[in-house]
Amino acid sequence: MAGGKLIVFSAPSGSGKTTIVQHLLKQERLNLEFSISATSREPRKGEIHGHDYYYINLKQFKQHIKDEDFLEWEEVYRDNFYGTLKTEIERIWANGKNVIFDIDVVGGLRIKKKFPKETLAVFVKPPSVDELKIRLKKRKTESEEKINMRIAKASVELATAPQFDFIIENIHLDVALKEAEDLVAGYINENHE
Ligand code: 5GP
Repeated sequence: MAGGKLIVFSAPSGSGKTTIVQHLLKQERLNLEFSISATSREPRKGEIHGHDYYYINLKQFKQHIKDEDFLEWEEVYRDNFYGTLKTEIERIWANGKNVIFDIDVVGGLRIKKKFPKETLAVFVKPPSVDELKIRLKKRKTESEEKINMRIAKASVELATAPQFDFIIENIHLDVALKEAEDLVAGYINENHE
């Protein structure tokens, strides 16, 4: 596989990384395309197959693992599998675009390890775990049990932050968005010179 750059955004659930990634995708000068992951979790209200994720069942997911179709995959939460299909990156690179990922910390670091020269790995840090809990509750997309599961995982995820190339603290969203934009633009331009 060869082609554009890989821009990884990883963070605990509720840190705001999806908002940042969506903002970056709107910036035409960055020439980014979203890596649509495969997942075994159910679609949330408003999510679209082939846009947010490729929603597949557990059996199909396990078959892809067996066939070595994934660049990386993780059981991010119990029975909720997520993975990046190799064909997804090939598709985006063939379009002449840079790939942007919204994936968990383990997956993000795995991509960085596989493509060290092509990858910018960014960690999005929430102000605190308490704030994370407030944001997840406000979002109303998960049950109390699932929120607790995500919070429990957050401390472990926060400990991986130093392994990333860059940490963005998402305290004020507008500042974080600008910081992310400048960072990605700088990385892409630097690598074109
Ligand atoms: P959610 O269920 O909130 O959409 O995602 C849960 C977590 O899984 C998030 O941290 C998200 O970034 C991560 N995730 C999404 N796609 C992938 C993927 O392809 N691989 C890995 N390792 N994590 C992913």
